[in-house]
Amino acid sequence: MKFALAGNPNCGKTTLFNSLTGATAHVGNWPGVTVDKREGIYKKLEEKVSIIDLPGIYSLSPYTPEEVVSRNFILDEKPDCIINVVDATNLERNLYLTTQVLEIDVPVVIALNMMDALRSSGSKIKVVDIEKAFGVRCVEISALKNQGLDELMKVAYSEARRPRRGMSVLANSRISRVIEETTNKLNEEKIESPLFHAIKLIENDEIEIKMHPEIAKGVEELKTKEPKDEFGGDYEAIVADQRYKYISEHFANTVIKSQDDSGVTKSDKIDKVLTHRIWGIPIFLAIMFIVFHLTFSEDLLFLNGIFGLEIKNEGFINFLTGMGAEFDEETGAIIPLAGIPSLGVFLQNWMGWLTGAIIDLFRGFMPEGTWYTGLVCDGILTGLDSIFSFLPQIILLFLFISILEDSGYMARVAFIMDRAFRKFGLSGKAFIPLLMGFGCSVPAMMGAKTLEDEKERDMTIRLTPFFSCGAKAPTWAMLAVAVAGSFLGDIFVFSIYLLGIVVAIIAAIIMKAFSKNYDVPPFIMELPSYHAPQFRNLMAHLWDKAKHFVVKASTIITAAIILIWFLSSFSWAFWEGLVDDIDESILASLGKVLQYFFWPLGWAQGAEGWKFSVATITGLIAKEDVVATMAQLGLCDEAGETISFALSNSRIYAFAAYNLFTFPCFAAIATAKSESSKKAFPITLAFWFFGSYVISLFVFLIGLTFEVAWWVGLIVVLVLAGAVVLAGLLVSKRKKLQQA
Ligand code: GDP
Ligand code: MG
Repeated sequence: MKFALAGNPNCGKTTLFNSLTGATAHVGNWPGVTVDKREGIYKKLEEKVSIIDLPGIYSLSPYTPEEVVSRNFILDEKPDCIINVVDATNLERNLYLTTQVLEIDVPVVIALNMMDALRSSGSKIKVVDIEKAFGVRCVEISALKNQGLDELMKVAYSEARRPRRGMSVLANSRISRVIEETTNKLNEEKIESPLFHAIKLIENDEIEIKMHPEIAKGVEELKTKEPKDEFGGDYEAIVADQRYKYISEHFANTVIKSQDDSGVTKSDKIDKVLTHRIWGIPIFLAIMFIVFHLTFSEDLLFLNGIFGLEIKNEGFINFLTGMGAEFDEETGAIIPLAGIPSLGVFLQNWMGWLTGAIIDLFRGFMPEGTWYTGLVCDGILTGLDSIFSFLPQIILLFLFISILEDSGYMARVAFIMDRAFRKFGLSGKAFIPLLMGFGCSVPAMMGAKTLEDEKERDMTIRLTPFFSCGAKAPTWAMLAVAVAGSFLGDIFVFSIYLLGIVVAIIAAIIMKAFSKNYDVPPFIMELPSYHAPQFRNLMAHLWDKAKHFVVKASTIITAAIILIWFLSSFSWAFWEGLVDDIDESILASLGKVLQYFFWPLGWAQGAEGWKFSVATITGLIAKEDVVATMAQLGLCDEAGETISFALSNSRIYAFAAYNLFTFPCFAAIATAKSESSKKAFPITLAFWFFGSYVISLFVFLIGLTFEVAWWVGLIVVLVLAGAVVLAGLLVSKRKKLQQA
């Protein structure tokens, strides 16, 4: 037997799937996370039942890939029963999909999920209302708390053995005549689920029209005989309207809210604070800052910097924190580094120590000065080491971002952003895939599919790399060490992420100003209620991430490292053996050509400039390669903790900016190509190419004004920011006037 789980995004399908099958799959809050099909086995019944977790959808129309996948699965693979998972805390909205599923000739059981949350807010649900209206069984469950699942499966099992005819809530509506006649025609042709196909034909569904062109013509004729109404013959709108009307007529009082708290749920209360009109954005920034502080700070809670506690890393503390000490060359004294490190830095110290020990071990074994010692120790191990020592920090950052996603907070961020930037023609829906970009650009770009407007989709894909992905984090962590002394590492990393977001918003406003269509679609994404993230799912997600990282490191990154090693160890006359001076290598000669191109950006100037230029290019293979290349070329030690280059802060910032805004890695470029429209892709490439150059230049020049005096820089930044906001407002005003 085969049961399929169907339902809206975030209704808890994957949670239910995991509870039933014991598989570990990631649970997230974005529409589209479950794009791939997941299959598992439920064993507690007389026979084994395979369970399929379908992607989350709001309807069965063919607008998004998720919808097409779910619909085709139900129609073609004919599961024995569909378990329609419904978020009981959001009943009416979820039942919209139910009304469509019911039209198919297949057994259906409704699983009213999240009953624990509903009950804890003191509400109840009149299950009979739903069973009576729809004529299918309805079981209250909590996928999270494992309640009612056995009962659900028993009911589904017995329903699965009884054939069921489709039913429609439109049967008694004003278009019932058209539906009936179309259904009859399909019936004559012996088409399965005639009712479902009939209504889709009436909705002008492209897939159906292609499948039954003749009948579609007949439907058009039937329609002409119907009286016109306020929808002007737009049958898709009529059908949707009738569904919603039916739902609100029948189920408006199905959820009985507890009287004492007047329908205000805990989530509502939290939202009052977190999505506050004025404080919403500052709170978001504060939360992000805390995340970066816990991941990148060398001075936890600013105990030294601000509170002046002067904790010294001596003796046991030093051993424990792994902070190490600095050797003062002038006085010859050993100065213990001050400060208790954050969890991220703490883990990185230990990881660095571990990987360093491995390299030393190898060096001890292998003969000195041979080419293969060079390849293994200076090439592969040094390169890999530089990435692996940052693995704990990436994983930690990922953990925090997953918690923010799973708890439902990221959906709020999209909502807050929508409210703040709607004026400028930006919609919050686009922020959802963008925020996913903090993890990895590839799934983020795929997530852009959920946006209906093609222009909006192209624009979102274009801006995705600006939301700094996990693979870029090692670069920032290493540069944070380079700016240390004048700057706190966590604040530096935070500011890079912020720069990405701000530039993305400004770029979006500019692109929108040049586009003809200035309408912002309404923000209809539902805000899931807050959940405590599930430990098991978080761990499964982190494990996935770590595995992906290790696979990537041992394949393409190692290949790139070997290539860089070869190019930097031999001169054009490679038969003469290893070069003594890296400046004579093939790589140096190539890098020095690149250096001319990057020279105006500040960071590529000077004797080491070509190395930075090369590192930037290797980032195309994988963004982690930037650090690996820098370590290989001797710009930092193999753990990325000691820096051996001298760049002013403005140049370091410009280097960070270039790497943040330039082409993403090849995998992401390929995704962008397949996900964006044909017209847009070349523009996207040009945008990344020129955009990163211009922004890096800007950052360098602005940084120089800060080097004159901090207040000069501040004035320049404020004036520029003011000009951008003003221009944005002017454009949006003019556009609105034009459209009115
Ligand atoms: P999907 O998009 O339908 O696959 O939904 P998920 O399984 O990813 O669940 C979305 C969120 O709802 C997650 O944060 C889950 O922890 C939460 N969730 C799922 N089922 C329940 C439930 O029965 N009760 C509560 N309180 N939360 C749940
Ligand atoms: Mg899911």
